[in-house]
Amino acid sequence: MKRKQERARQKAMGGSVEREKVMRTVALPEAIVVSELANRMTERVGDVVKSLMQMGLMVTQNETIDADTAELIIQEFGHTVQRVSDADVEDVIKEIVDDEGDLLTRPPVVTIMGHVDHGKTSLLDAIRKAKVVSGEAGGITQHIGAYQVKASNGSVLCFLDTPGHAAFTSMRSRGAQVTDIVVLVVAADDAVMPQTVEAIAHAKAANVPMIVAINKIDKHEANPTKVRTDLLQHEVVVEKMSGEVQDVEVSAATGQGLDELIEAIALQSELLELKANPNRAAQGAVIEAQLDVGRGPVATVLIQNGTLRQGDIFVVGEQYGKVRALINDKGERVKEAGPSVPVEVLGLNGTPGAGDVLNVTETEAQAREIAEYRANAAKDKRAAAGAATTLEQLMANAKADEDVSELPILVKADVQGSAEAIVQAMEKIGNDEVRVRVLHSGV
Ligand code: GDP
Ligand code: MG
Repeated sequence: MKRKQERARQKAMGGSVEREKVMRTVALPEAIVVSELANRMTERVGDVVKSLMQMGLMVTQNETIDADTAELIIQEFGHTVQRVSDADVEDVIKEIVDDEGDLLTRPPVVTIMGHVDHGKTSLLDAIRKAKVVSGEAGGITQHIGAYQVKASNGSVLCFLDTPGHAAFTSMRSRGAQVTDIVVLVVAADDAVMPQTVEAIAHAKAANVPMIVAINKIDKHEANPTKVRTDLLQHEVVVEKMSGEVQDVEVSAATGQGLDELIEAIALQSELLELKANPNRAAQGAVIEAQLDVGRGPVATVLIQNGTLRQGDIFVVGEQYGKVRALINDKGERVKEAGPSVPVEVLGLNGTPGAGDVLNVTETEAQAREIAEYRANAAKDKRAAAGAATTLEQLMANAKADEDVSELPILVKADVQGSAEAIVQAMEKIGNDEVRVRVLHSGV
């Protein structure tokens, strides 16, 4: 029967020349698009569609078929089937362990944290001698900026400015440990405040060394001693108090102590012995992502290992793409970005989330498959979470909810990080009578 079909097929194609047939082992996931199936068998799409029709299935090349049907087709074409589970698609980006010899020293990634208005942005600006603060909406940091700075001794440092700790935590909860060193900014005229305490907790939880920058030392009401004694209560013992944590008195306004701060960071990073292998497929973490009117989805990515180049195909969280352009922290187009370099990546098919990991893959099919797998897994997870509530629970909740008014809101922000922070803050608002329900958020 098979041979007869084969003959009929060849006759239909009008080809009498026997093509040397290559038998392949075809990796088959739980569902596959017809054209991709043909691709993997290196058969013509038309032939595959035709044999599906012979099986009574009217599908086009862009439709997805299940694994059982695909298996029949693969057998019919004489290839071997290798069933793979959905999660196997991620195997292509499994962590490669670098040889000790390939590792080169990389710059440290420094995050500036601290209470609002204690001078995080000013300090960062003073360090890179540029002015961002005046251009910011309302003087509040809107985006996570990332900048590279060259110290006077030639060593390079990468700085991240955080809009708030919510973003830092959500990034960490997604497994993106991007920071090597935390600089805790405490204003000398204000001492330790709630967000200072939060920042300390975050740094400790992330197991990242901390350097205390006592800022606004130029002010006459500055009291650095109070800062140091306050910190003691939170188990941060600075060097001046015969502890281990480096502390530096600085002024973002006058520039006092900045060199000492950079020196302290350089010293700390030497102790950490940070290494990466620039000669491998890039891996990085998204620090910020936005939907730009002119440029489409844009992600600020901190490269953690390897080198990202123009033209590279990658998967990032539930999105994928091909690097169309790379833009560095100075707004210049660059061809590549190595370890500890922050770059804006253009060429994504959607907006990833902050903390999503970027991996370069060999083919676009791989990248797309991984992205689709992740999106489906996330969808299944959400659906499963919804299904977990029983009808009784639902009724009970509905009854309890009767007395509570709801304010449904849509959150639309310019960047992912802001949207996330706003949603988290909104969800905490509420009392017995009224609460906020976030219907949807996005950039
Ligand atoms: P952030 O919220 O931590 O990013 O704080 P900003 O960098 O926006 O600074 C808050 C305010 O403190 C601004 O008005 C700055 O001009 C001021 N400021 C920051 N650093 C210094 C400093 O070293 N000395 C003085 N006098 N003012 C400062
Ligand atoms: Mg700021």
